[in-house]
Order: sequence, then C-alpha cells, then structure tokens
Amino acid sequence: MKEYEAVIGMEVHVESKTNSKMFCSCINGKGLEDQPNINICPICTGHPGTLPVPNREALVKITRFGQALNCQISDYTWFERKSYFYPDLPKGYQITQYERPLCYEGNIEILTSKGPKYIRITRIHMEEDTGKLSHINGKTVVDYNRAGLPLMELVTEPDIRNAEEAKIFCEELQLILRYLDISDGDMDKGQMRCEVNISLREKGTEAFGTKVEIKNLNSFRVVEQAIEYEIIRQTEVISQGGEVVQETRGWDDSKSITFSQRKKENAHDYRYFVEPDIPPFETSAIITDAASITAELPIAKRKRFLDEYQLAIQQVEILVRNKALADYFEQTISELKAWIKADNKEFTPEETTKLIKLSANYILTELIKHYSEKGLSFDNSPISPENYAEFIKIVFSGEVSSTGAQTLLLQMIETGSDPSDIVESQGLKQVSDTNALQGIVDQVITENPKVVLDYQNGNENVLQFLIGQVMRYSKGSANPQIAKQILHDTITQNK
Ligand SMILES: [Zn+2]
Repeated sequence: MKEYEAVIGMEVHVESKTNSKMFCSCINGKGLEDQPNINICPICTGHPGTLPVPNREALVKITRFGQALNCQISDYTWFERKSYFYPDLPKGYQITQYERPLCYEGNIEILTSKGPKYIRITRIHMEEDTGKLSHINGKTVVDYNRAGLPLMELVTEPDIRNAEEAKIFCEELQLILRYLDISDGDMDKGQMRCEVNISLREKGTEAFGTKVEIKNLNSFRVVEQAIEYEIIRQTEVISQGGEVVQETRGWDDSKSITFSQRKKENAHDYRYFVEPDIPPFETSAIITDAASITAELPIAKRKRFLDEYQLAIQQVEILVRNKALADYFEQTISELKAWIKADNKEFTPEETTKLIKLSANYILTELIKHYSEKGLSFDNSPISPENYAEFIKIVFSGEVSSTGAQTLLLQMIETGSDPSDIVESQGLKQVSDTNALQGIVDQVITENPKVVLDYQNGNENVLQFLIGQVMRYSKGSANPQIAKQILHDTITQNK
C-alpha cells in the first residue's frame, strides 16, 4: 500500500490589543460584546466623505510580531482596498494589505515530540476586522462593534506535516502574542482564529495534491482533531481510487467530523487597488519603536529554564506557558539566591539545585492546585514571592514537617501573612527534640495497646498508623522520621 503524507499550511487571524480601532478613534476594549452597534462611528461604518487614519500602535505591534517571528519588515508599504459585498462589511470593501505585506519571509521554531522544527512564515499583514452576523429566529442581525478592529493575518508555508505540529504551532503563536502583549489571543473570544489548508501526497514526492480548506477552528483541540479527521478522510478517498475535491469544509464539533461547506468557485476577483485615502508610508520609525519592546520570548525562556534551573522539561513547559507563573517562580529564585548570598551560606551547587527544585515542586503541585480551586492567579498572588521564598527556606531547613508545610501554605493563602509568623502563632515548628516527642509517643502507645501488640508480633505495617497518631497529637509538628525511631525503640524495649 502507498504511504501518504499531509502537507499543511495555516492562516491565522489575530486581533491586536490596542487602545482604538484600526482607522478611527472608536475604542478597542472590553464590553463591546454587551450591546450591538454602540461602538461605531462614521469612519468604521464607511460613511462617504470620511477619512481613515492608520493606528500607529497597531502598526508597531504587528511589526514587533514580525520581528519575533524572524520576518523581513518592509521599509516602505501601503494599504489596499479589497472589494467584495457581504453584510458584515459596511464599507463594501476591506482595507488590507496585498502587494506589500508589512512582514514577510519569517520562521518560527516549535518543539514537537520528535524534536525542534521550523515552520516558515510567508507573510503577516495588517487589515481591519469585519462586523458580526447573528442568525436569530430565522432573521439575521448585524453588529458592527467589531468592524474596523485591527486584525493581523499570518500565512505560513505548507511546512506542517501533522496535527500535533499544527496544534503546537498555534499554541506557540498564542504564547508569543501574550509575551509581547500584542494580543490575548483567546480563541474562544475570537481574538485568534485559525484556518487550515491540507492536502495529501505520496511520501517521497514533491508535487502537491488538491487542497481542502478547513475554516472556523476555534480551539487548539479542534485544530488537532480536524486535521486528524481530514488526513483519514483524504487517505480513504485516494486509496479507493477517488479524487479529493477542492473545497472549503467546516468542523462539526458534536460529530467530530469535517463537512463540505462550499465547492471552490474560481478565485475571487477582489479588484485590489491602492487605498486612495491613506498615503504609502515609510516604516523606519515604526521598526525602531517595535524593536524597543523587549521581552524574552517563550523559546528562549524554555532553553534558559532548562539550562539554569535543571528542571524537568514538563515542569519548564508548565512555567513557560503561564508568563505570570514563570515570573513568580523567577522572583522566588532571586529571593532565595539573595538569601544564600547575604547569609554567606556555603551551599554546594547540589544544595542550590535542590532548593530550586523544591521551589518549583511546591509551585507546580500545591500552589497551582490551590489557586485553581480558589480561582486565584499568579498575577495577583495572595502569597508574595518574598513570602513564598521564606516558606521554601522554612521547608528546606526542616523547620516544619511536610504535613506542617501543607498547613502553613494554606494559612499563607488564606491570610497572606508572613510564614514565620504563622509557624510561630500556630505552633507548626517541627519537633525533632526526642524528649519533647517521647511524651506524645508514650501517650499514643498507652492508648493503642492492640496496635502495639500487633507491631510486637511482627506486623510492621501498623507502625505507620502509630506515626500518624503522633503527627495528629503534635498537630503535624512532629518530625516523622524521629517519631518513627522513638516509637520503634520504645515499643521494642517494652516488649
Ligand atoms: Zn469607528
């Protein structure tokens, strides 16, 4: 049987986060979804005699996006009118870029399960968004609040070969947008919208097969599922001697299938021409401004975290995917490093690594869990990085037991207080003093004669129960290792 490979290209539209719309002063912000047609003006609704003025902030942001994706930036460019009729397009044309996109010929590195891979970026151009149609009770209504929002359109070369690569590509784009504060890229809010074009060809051949476009993929999961489905569908068509039809397909989430929306007519003639109301412009000042937006990109952060902190790759991924979390972790580490330095501690590199790993572990297991349960975020953490570093020092030095650490952390989340104060006021200090523990051990032994007898008769498993009792009586402050030793010694001596 012949083997086929998928050839996949992507088109991604992203609304950029600016103060105002692309060509007018209507705001670009939250609340637009509340009421239809309240955030509009004669310019974005295309009244005659109005003059569009390009939004410089949007141009700087798209340029920064292009720089992050290693694109060439046009030194001179202009806008065009793309003419077509659709009710969500009030002007009867869209102002976009055609001949000379602002950004072109870039690439992005993604990390797949098979290793790193580069996806080439064909172009990223600037345009304006359309309005929104809703179909309610057999009627169609239009909302122009979205019309004229700054929209970036990114097109890749057909370098993607499977669903996993496509999903990771989209996730990485979203991360870059968020790291640079160009867009929140929320797919469920339509801030980032993905389209896939996909064809199959026999493995080892160069020529492209007939491609199918899949539109309106509104989550990473759906991008992945639609591609997986389409690869199977096209493989079946071809291996049964059929031909793939050039068409646009949609995704039916309830059935998890793609379905034909429309067969490809001849290419649209959009009658592009240079937008006469906006003069062509040079971009050198925009490029300079874009370059001054500095931020470490996710790929660099990943490499640095692996290198500098020696964490597991899965841990690094969780940190990098949430910038606030990564920043929080690093602030903690710098607190801890300052502490090591200030106290002139003679830490071996191994001990320092252990301290860093301890910080990462408590964040990635405990804090993430508690925060998500309580709807808290690391942007606005009730535990400051200073207090969290303090907590790690307390755990590291064995001042509290691991049970005590859990209690302490919860108290810190509840109160936001200094962990040392909580340890003091709640009596959480781990008791390693044998004399202090002996009293509790004696009490536990007296109260559990049957269990003690079991242990004396060789059932070692019951010791854990007795340790648990000691922990309970000591309110979690006993050092379990030492408690275990005293329990064992006391019971066997009394035998
Ligand atoms: Zn407007």
